[in-house]
Amino acid sequence: MSIHADEDLEPRWTQRPVNRRSFLTGGLYAAAAVGGALSLAGCSSTGHKSVPRPKRLDWAQLAAAMTGSLILPSNPSYAIDSELYNAKFTNLTPQAIAYVASSEDVARCIDFVRVHGIPVTSRSGGHSYGGYSSCDGLVIDVSQLSSISIAGTSATVGAGSRLIDVYNTIGNQGMLLPGGSCPTVGIAGLTLGGGVGVFARSYGILADNLQSVSIVTADARQLAVSPESDADLFWACQGGGGGNFGVVTAFGFTVHPIPPISLFTLQFPFAAAADVLGSWQQWLSSIPDELWSNCLVLSQGAPQGGYLVQIGGVFCGSQSDLSDLLAPRLSAIGTAPSYEFVGSEEYLNAMMIEGGCAGLTVAACHSPMQNPAGTLQRSSFSAKSGYLNVPMSSAQLSAAVRVASALATEIPAVNGGLAFDSYGGAINQVDGSATAFIHRDMLCGIQASYTWPTGTSPADVQAGSQWFQTQAAFVLPPAQGAYQNYIDPTLAGWQDAYYGSNLSKLISVKDSYDPDDLFHFAQSIPTSA
Ligand SMILES: Cc1cc2nc3c(=O)[nH]c(=O)nc-3n(C[C@H](O)[C@H](O)[C@H](O)COP(=O)(O)OP(=O)(O)OC[C@H]3O[C@@H](n4cnc5c(N)ncnc54)[C@H](O)[C@@H]3O)c2cc1C
Repeated sequence: MSIHADEDLEPRWTQRPVNRRSFLTGGLYAAAAVGGALSLAGCSSTGHKSVPRPKRLDWAQLAAAMTGSLILPSNPSYAIDSELYNAKFTNLTPQAIAYVASSEDVARCIDFVRVHGIPVTSRSGGHSYGGYSSCDGLVIDVSQLSSISIAGTSATVGAGSRLIDVYNTIGNQGMLLPGGSCPTVGIAGLTLGGGVGVFARSYGILADNLQSVSIVTADARQLAVSPESDADLFWACQGGGGGNFGVVTAFGFTVHPIPPISLFTLQFPFAAAADVLGSWQQWLSSIPDELWSNCLVLSQGAPQGGYLVQIGGVFCGSQSDLSDLLAPRLSAIGTAPSYEFVGSEEYLNAMMIEGGCAGLTVAACHSPMQNPAGTLQRSSFSAKSGYLNVPMSSAQLSAAVRVASALATEIPAVNGGLAFDSYGGAINQVDGSATAFIHRDMLCGIQASYTWPTGTSPADVQAGSQWFQTQAAFVLPPAQGAYQNYIDPTLAGWQDAYYGSNLSKLISVKDSYDPDDLFHFAQSIPTSA
């Protein structure tokens, strides 16, 4: 390590709030992929117990049976249609992509892959960290199922809806849904893996707000599941992970009247990073449920270079009440912020600020593939996650700052570091076995991540990856688990880390609804067979 927290590091980072999305985009939106340096474990045919693959697949027959469209490699748009959000996945070449227009289309696709014995996966927003929404068979893309409607405090949301459209439509009705930050993330992957965001301490994770799920199962049945009907499958959809039990076509959610919303951002001299991070962790057990906050410790590689320690957050309440909550914490930290912002904000603007598209139109706050006016580009990144159930010791704090700050010097041309997101509040008021989301007694989640720009050599990416794997171990306590929505193909013991004591029930749900393991990928819930 060539950089230590106790060195005199004045931040050269531009003094502006760093939002949750830019943590994974590094502000450097890669326009194209780097050459396939990292491994991918998408769905594979090895787990399937269906009939052997015949020599020739009659894709025309499937296309003719569908209301939606089927894209084959010969189609001019195939290169774009086969892309995922993470630009490092350049080696994904599905045999076909089905843009389904209905549950019936999904059922036809499932019948087809069963008859032909080819791998299948589903795709909503395409943001899977492991690339698991692509495979070398058929990708069932639900992005055309994107209608959103509200009746009272219930919303029906098509499984292909992007977060920005959900927040815009629901927000226009004066209602709020507590989801994640990235505007281009799909509602399906987010919900099925839990869905943690800036309103989770007030209203629970996204999956806690589920009322019902419309899903097509491995035997092509179209089910409406809820706590009253197929209750175990409904339970599994509340955090059991995307892609495991069927293809969801729509979700029913409880939505909430929008409260007053205030935001804050505090940046500090980097020399105080360990103190700031430690003080922030101590603070979490005493803040009200209405206050969500995170702490970022980041470093940025060449050419700009720089370091950042920032506490930010979203409060369901007034600006003056938020200022009153922040004042004692600022005194406790003992180092004056180098940048300070506290202000009230409209719901949609707040979500756009958190999602990295402040000042843009809703149309621009999409990827160009989702909307012709979209301006948000893909990025290349790798990440690992963990949890803390108690604040870090001073040795752990120093190690965390050391790792985050050394990232940019050890790995050429990257941006990254550590993001700590507060848990607690409504998240922790739900019993760990009440839903498939087990992480109910945590102080905060941790995400270690780095992004690299287009043009970074595969060798640098590979070297960076190795360094990152080793160093993350100094920061992420293995015993506390990992977040299944930050799915990590390199994680040993992932079943336990993602699902803990809920794993056995998830396996029994898999046995009931997908006994042939049709929906199989490297980290899918297994059957008991
Ligand atoms: C920039 C960025 C920001 C993020 N911010 C947050 C955040 O604030 N909070 C948070 O909790 N997470 C966040 N995430 C993680 C995110 O929740 C997961 O990556 C999630 O799985 C993405 O869902 P998706 O639909 O976009 O991805 P996809 O890649 O389409 O799907 C993810 C998984 O779900 C499966 N799936 C997709 N559609 C369906 C369907 N219709 N039925 C059944 N299974 C399906 C896929 O097969 C895949 O296994 C972020 C990710 C990124 C890249």
